[in-house]
Amino acid sequence: MALLNSSHRNLMTTFRSKRVRSKKYLQTLRGRPCLVCGYGAEAHHIMFAEPNAMGMKVGDNWCVPLCHSCHMKLHAFGDERTWWDLQGVDPKEWAKLNWEKFNGRSD
Ligand SMILES: [Zn+2]
Ligand SMILES: [Zn+2]
Repeated sequence: MALLNSSHRNLMTTFRSKRVRSKKYLQTLRGRPCLVCGYGAEAHHIMFAEPNAMGMKVGDNWCVPLCHSCHMKLHAFGDERTWWDLQGVDPKEWAKLNWEKFNGRSD
């Protein structure tokens, strides 16, 4: 961190402020059926959801349920976009709809 100049630091603050963080939302994804196989899932951040992430995690609104096994396979595969294409699933669409549904709840 000491190597960062001030312009870098500003850039990171900008990125951070734009990203949604919601532990509550992540909780709602745990135990959900995996988007690929239907098994009990954990939360995965869609890495390509925000193209300028520069190695930072995307917002929690871009999380989808994936079981441990599919999750490991995805990370091992590397090219996430291609991996989802192979599964025939559009995780961004799912994440968008589910996030909207979550925010629509008043409690
Ligand atoms: Zn799975
Ligand atoms: Zn993941």
